[in-house]
Amino acid sequence: MIDLRSDTVTKPDETMREAAGSAAVGDDVYGEDPTVNELEARAAEAVGTEAALYVPSGTMGNQIAARVHTERGQEAIADRKSHVVKYELGGFAQHADLQLRMVDAERGVPSPEQIAGEYVAEDLHRPGTGLLCLENTHNARGGLAIEPERIAAAADAAHERDVPVHLDGARLFNAATALDVPAAEITDPVDSVMFCLSKGLGAPVGSVLAGNEAFIERARRTRKLLGGGMRQAGIIAAPGLRALENVSELETDHEHARLLADGLARIDGFDVQEPETNIVLVDVTETGLETDAVLERLRERDVAATQFGPTTLRFCTNRDVSRDGIEAVLDAATAAFGTA
Ligand SMILES: *Cc1c(COP(=O)(O)O)cnc(C)c1O
Repeated sequence: MIDLRSDTVTKPDETMREAAGSAAVGDDVYGEDPTVNELEARAAEAVGTEAALYVPSGTMGNQIAARVHTERGQEAIADRKSHVVKYELGGFAQHADLQLRMVDAERGVPSPEQIAGEYVAEDLHRPGTGLLCLENTHNARGGLAIEPERIAAAADAAHERDVPVHLDGARLFNAATALDVPAAEITDPVDSVMFCLSKGLGAPVGSVLAGNEAFIERARRTRKLLGGGMRQAGIIAAPGLRALENVSELETDHEHARLLADGLARIDGFDVQEPETNIVLVDVTETGLETDAVLERLRERDVAATQFGPTTLRFCTNRDVSRDGIEAVLDAATAAFGTA
């Protein structure tokens, strides 16, 4: 099976397995795991923050951030299609007692005008806006690499109103690679950022939440509250450290996405969104088939993609699928549906 459902499906390579096997470990709840400590230091450096915290998943990182930045009952502004709105089980309500103000934002980033319009000042009747949550790359909108200027404009609009800003940067390094800027330039205007080691970078487990010292100190307590305090976590942090070295290889995934998109655009009934990173969205309405049926036909030819909306499929290139693999996917799609 050529698996393009997600970049989370990659298996740890030999260097990661060796790193896990030989990792120096200690009890990380006591702060005594040298490998976790090294990962947190290196991760903070990579995104230009004072400190960082290793967390079991990106979802937990986002939830911790929401809880630490806000007070009960406050409102969070987020794009309608953001991961925290669509795919985290309403966690902002469950873990941080937040209400959502969803906006339909161009490129998934609320404009300063939208932020001004949705902002609520705290008074006797109104809970106040407690958080602006942004996303980069923007997954549901097609892996969009959001420009630092756009992030900065939104963050400035929030900060003018004393509203903190969290960036869901699950695929932050894909954005930095596509835009050819340091990740730290993208994160500079925000108060906290989460990125995943377990996606394009290839680690088996784990994400990082980063911010200033005071924020990370509170985040560490909240991680414990949510049951995310881990003991000899160096075993899983060691492949995470290795994963940080894979940033320079993300460009290959992007090249593969462009190759895939060009080829899929020739398939009968496929309407392909031009990729900016490693995600290719395809609207299959014109095939006259339901998405399930399209996926099934691909699966019969050993290709896996995922449903991503009523008429849309997502193909996500990743380090376990080579250029030959992408060409095999295009052959399979041609055999299944023909070319236009
Ligand atoms: C995958 C993802 C997450 C969550 O990460 P998990 O490790 O799967 O919990 C959060 N935000 C975005 C944009 C993602 O793509």
